Amino acid sequence: MEEKEEILVRNGPGWTSFVKIQKEIIQARIDRYNDKDLIAEQILTLGDLTPYQQRKTQVVTPFLIEALNAIKDGKYGICKKCSQDIPVARLRLVPGALTCVSCVDVLVTKNKQG
Ligand SMILES: [Zn+2]
Repeated sequence: MEEKEEILVRNGPGWTSFVKIQKEIIQARIDRYNDKDLIAEQILTLGDLTPYQQRKTQVVTPFLIEALNAIKDGKYGICKKCSQDIPVARLRLVPGALTCVSCVDVLVTKNKQG
């Protein structure tokens, strides 16, 4: 069966099963980024987490949790900055995306300036 990605829109046909898959992907990432054995091993052998692990645990995980909460609240796929629908293609690429691409660009630009 051919899947027509371009037709999938927020709350349209197929949206519910799409979100279910996204939820599983996000949850699996949270589990992987917060693997207790891996964290314990790094602290034991290195004295601290690697920069990569720190980023995954302390920076990325809160965003993923926020995305899970958005799913729970039925707000997944809505940009939290401009309230527009986030394109499904972006959600496939970045399952934990909380903003659309233009709002991410605005944030990056602001950070660079400030
Ligand atoms: Zn936006």
